Amino acid sequence: SKTLEGKVAFIQGGSRGIGAAVALRLARDGASVALTYVASAAGALDVVQTIEAAGGRAIAIQADSRDEQAIRAAIHHTVDTFGRLDILVNNAGVLAVAPIEEFSIEDLDRTLDVNVRSVVIASQEAARVMGEGGRIITIGSTNAERMPFAGGSVYALSKAAVAGFTKGLARDLGPRGITVNNVQPGPVDTDMNPDHGDFADSLKQLMALPRYGKAEEIASFVAYLAGPESGYITGANLMIDGGFSA
Ligand code: NDP
Repeated sequence: SKTLEGKVAFIQGGSRGIGAAVALRLARDGASVALTYVASAAGALDVVQTIEAAGGRAIAIQADSRDEQAIRAAIHHTVDTFGRLDILVNNAGVLAVAPIEEFSIEDLDRTLDVNVRSVVIASQEAARVMGEGGRIITIGSTNAERMPFAGGSVYALSKAAVAGFTKGLARDLGPRGITVNNVQPGPVDTDMNPDHGDFADSLKQLMALPRYGKAEEIASFVAYLAGPESGYITGANLMIDGGFSA
């Protein structure tokens, strides 16, 4: 039988890129999946239809990760629809790159709202409804620990913040048998970080494996952390970065 049969997963930001790959993978492993999006209705629908065509169960919910009530409502809607919540994946994220002298407060607020604040709110709401064996997984970044180019200071700040949150939250939820982990990818070919051009080439030169990762490779790791064999891993910030940080 499938490893996630009977489980329900909520993926914050599942319409494109890594989040979409995670949604497809967790569904393939047997989970019922709810995914949120803010702008990409077509992408979200495509993920849902792909899952349903393979015999799985999925719903897409428009919920801006900057909107506290929208996040809470989306989690409630998931529990109302599928009856429970076992796995939270905090994937929604934004990347704003600019020299600090020019970095706008608007971009600072957007980065902190989506990359950090939404993680806290969704984790809080999920923790209220999850039972023993629950899983909270955040998609951080290798940039929490290594930021080898200029202009990424605020992004690195946001990913370091969720790394710290992961450790603290694991302490809160450990007694209830819920694990909390942070997956820290290196460069992955998505809309956020396309695998072409001078920037991509410069990143590859910094890596042990000189190539971009695939969203499916990150999804595979998330599936392991979401599954029954990873129950002794918690409070961990886990690199999957092609040796970017080596
Ligand atoms: P993409 O830009 O390809 O996709 C971002 C996803 O997040 C989309 O589903 C998007 O929804 C959603 N999202 C963004 N803002 C919001 C919001 N306000 N409310 C709800 N959903 C939102 O990014 P990636 O797949 O590349 O990145 C996913 C995660 O992985 C991010 O946290 C990123 O920081 C992290 N990461 C990415 C790396 C990379 O190299 N690609 C490396 C390391 C970490 P919509 O489609 O509706 O806009």
